Amino acid sequence: MMVVMPLTRSEATARAAIIDVHSYEVHLDVTAAGETFGSRAVVRFGARPGSSTFLEFEPVVVSSMTLNGSPVPSLSVSGGRLTLADLAEENELVVEATMRYSNDGEGLHRYTDPADGNVYLYQHLFINNGGRVLPCFDQPDLKASWQVSVSAPADWKVATNGELVSSSAGEWRFAATKPISTYLASLFAGPFHAVTDSHDGIPLALYVRAALAEHLDRQAEELFTITKQCLDRYHEMFEIRYPFGHYQQAFAPEFNFGAMEYPGLVVFRDEMIYRSAVTDSQRESRANVIAHEMAHMWFGDLVTMAWWDDLWLNESFAEYLGTRVAGEATRFTGTWTTFAMQRKAWGLRADQHPSTHPVAPVEVRDTEQALLNFDGISYAKGAATLKQLVAFVGDEAFLAGLNEHFTAHAYGNATLADLLGALAKASGRDLSGWAEVWLRRAQVNTLRLELSPARVEQTAPADYPTLRPHKIGIGLYDRGADGTVVRRSLLPVEVEAAAVTAVPALDAEPAADLVVLNDGDLTYAKIRLDDASTAAVSTVLPLISDSLARAVLWAATLDAVVDGERPVAELVTLVLTALPVESEVVIVEDVLRATRSLVDRYSTPETRPAALELVAQAADRLLAVSEPGGSRQLAAARGLIGATNQSGRLRGWLDGEGVPDGLAIDADLRWLILYRLVVLDAAGTAEIDEEFARDRSATGAQWAARCRAAVPTPDAKAAAWQAIVSDVSLSNRLVEMTASGFWHPEQLDLLAPYVPRYFAEMPAMMRVRGGMSAERTAGYAYPELAVGAETRRLAAELLSREDLDPILRRVVQDADDDMRRAVEARF
Ligand SMILES: [Zn+2]
Repeated sequence: MMVVMPLTRSEATARAAIIDVHSYEVHLDVTAAGETFGSRAVVRFGARPGSSTFLEFEPVVVSSMTLNGSPVPSLSVSGGRLTLADLAEENELVVEATMRYSNDGEGLHRYTDPADGNVYLYQHLFINNGGRVLPCFDQPDLKASWQVSVSAPADWKVATNGELVSSSAGEWRFAATKPISTYLASLFAGPFHAVTDSHDGIPLALYVRAALAEHLDRQAEELFTITKQCLDRYHEMFEIRYPFGHYQQAFAPEFNFGAMEYPGLVVFRDEMIYRSAVTDSQRESRANVIAHEMAHMWFGDLVTMAWWDDLWLNESFAEYLGTRVAGEATRFTGTWTTFAMQRKAWGLRADQHPSTHPVAPVEVRDTEQALLNFDGISYAKGAATLKQLVAFVGDEAFLAGLNEHFTAHAYGNATLADLLGALAKASGRDLSGWAEVWLRRAQVNTLRLELSPARVEQTAPADYPTLRPHKIGIGLYDRGADGTVVRRSLLPVEVEAAAVTAVPALDAEPAADLVVLNDGDLTYAKIRLDDASTAAVSTVLPLISDSLARAVLWAATLDAVVDGERPVAELVTLVLTALPVESEVVIVEDVLRATRSLVDRYSTPETRPAALELVAQAADRLLAVSEPGGSRQLAAARGLIGATNQSGRLRGWLDGEGVPDGLAIDADLRWLILYRLVVLDAAGTAEIDEEFARDRSATGAQWAARCRAAVPTPDAKAAAWQAIVSDVSLSNRLVEMTASGFWHPEQLDLLAPYVPRYFAEMPAMMRVRGGMSAERTAGYAYPELAVGAETRRLAAELLSREDLDPILRRVVQDADDDMRRAVEARF
């Protein structure tokens, strides 16, 4: 892998001051089999006469290169950059080169489907990979029109941002796009299957690998319905109509993100085209992603951040609007429950790590740091902050401000200051103080309710002493004579940016059985209930009908365990009583997942088996009362499979014996069962090979890799480890699946040698894999289950190295901080 310098903010600023890019005309030749493809680019740009500049460019071989008709010496290309001197006022750079395909999800990713041998390509230039496909000015504020043509095998199809102009005999030509940033240029190619439709004058299309054609055909109606509902809702909210012509959605193999918002051609990971039964919360999550990417058409694509320090302008808004629009426009009305339960926990975790940063950092140094900021803070905390902003200024002013912002900066770039200006104007309020504490300061407040007299106590971590104003609701719940629980009232409360805010309205109310602080989940904070309410949670929570209130209570309970304030055993007891009556699937799934993770890391080797057995019992009880064939049944079955030690029962399910009524033991559930059997040493390599022979699909290959990494023998672990740290022929997804299958609490004795090996060998792994794939692999491979002082000592030793890769530094620092909490809670 070529070592490429990240682009710094100051380089980008200097380049934007002298360069004005007009257009990229790019022709890609992907007809030949092999590891490379042809790229011919014509870049037209204005410049300050006589100045010098550079383009990102990582060719294998350059065949010709001219600037304004004169040859450019090949020595001008080095370190991933093409340097040009003595520019004219108007310039035309023409370059023909051979480029390399990738298998790490960045650049032009090439994938061979194990199901049928078909080859697929997709282009992902984000965050600084433009140079892996063509020479380009790879920064968000140098927008240009793209005109793409492609030579491809005759049986292929090709899609790009631009609309198709012509295709014949493997030659594909596309119309020029509106001005877009380089990181948004997209392409999907291969013998893919397409389904088309249209809505409100907008042509719609869905694309997927041929092997998934039948599944897409069955799901197309749901996907189109959600797409149309979201388009309509955005058109109600925004004055500017969808600005990029057609709306194509491609589902691509081994995609690094959940999805990416390329204008006119959104790309999703193709796990979202389901081939086995899924829960309704998975379908909700897919609807949410559709709405999220669509929000980016305005926030990100039409108006783009000037530099990556305003990444949050993209992601926080897309997360907020996606959650909101999916909830308002589609059948998935509970999206804010999911957000409270799942997404905010992600934000809270990231925000309390040593690597925390403000939602809107004042300065992001370079593209490498920018990549690291794609975390729970930029997405979930930012979105939660926007929800609080809407509570603060009102919805009408919020939407008016957004519309003003879009109109002022359409097809251009904008900053936080621009957006705040528009919102301040629309709301008539000065938002600078609010923005300072909410957007410019890192970390999170804890809000704690105390009674007699009623007050909200607010604290902040010592290193981040900022207190914030919070607009919240406080819900009062009473147990009725008939055993039900009702919310008597929801008090609106403005918590001041102070240590104590009195709540006289609560004192004026008769005592309630349970008081829910932040009911409605309007603010972003760690929530702690008063003592009486905390004691009442286990009996009252299951009876509350509002799923959002239950999510707030579950989230606060889990957070207190994470912080070591409450023992994991108490959580397990609550799960055992409350989960079997939980009706919201996302809560079932998330509570099982989070509890499982806490049991694995917070209980000792002595207490863990019993705790895990109780988690399995909770899932089993839920399974027994779930409606056959429903989402809850599937969620319960998955939870049981992941926690149980009853290998005989699981084997029976594989053979069709004792399977709960309505539960489909389909391809993915078979793999999940086999995976657990392998972990328990009740199945091995022969069974994995047999299952893969039965399911020779892309997903089958991924599951097989994960299962092989889980086999509890020294040879299997050695092979998996070698694949993780040094096998560069493995694609991003296969190495991630291998790493995610490696560690198990049941196998810690066998895995002991890999604790020091992680710290010794990960720096080398970082040098051979691409940015995002390397970050994921380092995260999955971390020995987080080897909780103890020795692991922490090894982490500290690695962190003391000055030459440590910054991505690995961040992964280790944050994982070690999680372990610190576990150690403190445990001993
Ligand atoms: Zn996004």
